[in-house]
Amino acid sequence: MSDRLSVRWTVVARDCPRPVFACPACGGDRPFHPSGKLRLNANGKRLDAWLIYKCDGCDRTWNRPIFERRLAADVPPGDLAALRSADPAFVRRLAFDLSALRRKTPVILQSDRVDVEKLVTGGDQGATGVEIALVVPHPVGLRLDRLLAAELGLTRSRIGALAKAGRLDVDGGGNALKRPPRDGQCIRLNLDGMGDRQAILAAAG
Ligand SMILES: [Zn+2]
Repeated sequence: MSDRLSVRWTVVARDCPRPVFACPACGGDRPFHPSGKLRLNANGKRLDAWLIYKCDGCDRTWNRPIFERRLAADVPPGDLAALRSADPAFVRRLAFDLSALRRKTPVILQSDRVDVEKLVTGGDQGATGVEIALVVPHPVGLRLDRLLAAELGLTRSRIGALAKAGRLDVDGGGNALKRPPRDGQCIRLNLDGMGDRQAILAAAG
C-alpha cells in the first residue's frame, strides 16, 4: 500500500479561442472561429502568412496576419514547411496563441469544454492521498476548481472546503483555484480518513 496515488492529467481544450469584433458583413460584434486553413503568399523574397477565421454568424472571412512582408530567409525552415503543408498541430498552436490574439482585440471567448486524459504514474488505489500533475498544452478557459470538481466527481463548494481545511494544496496558492489550470501545475489532495476516498481515487486515475 502506497500513501499516494500519482496521476497525470492532460487537459486539452475542445474549442479554439474566438476573437470578438464587429463583423462588416452581418453587423454587430461577432465571435470569429479558426477555419483550420492558412494562407501563404510569396511576393519576391518576402512572404505573408495569415490564419483564416470565419464569422460565427455569417461565415465572413477574417485573415489574421501571422507575419507580413517577412523575408523568406528569416522564417525558420520548420515553420515554413508547417505553413506550406498547413500542419494541423502548427495551425492549432497559432490558434491558441492568446497574446497574439489580444493584440488584435481585447475580447476573446474561451470555451470551458475540455477533454481530460488521465494516466496513473505511481501508487495505487489503496493510497490515502493523490497528487495530480497537470499537462496543459494550450490555454483553456475553465477555472481550476471547476476542472477538479468535474473530474473528481465533487461539488465546487466541496473543493473550496477541502482547500480551506488544508487538505487540498495547489501550486500557486488558494487563488489558483479561481484561475485556469496551468501547464506543469501540481495539486495534492489528502484523503486520509475520508468516507469517499475510494471514489475520489477511482475518479482521479
Ligand atoms: Zn458576420
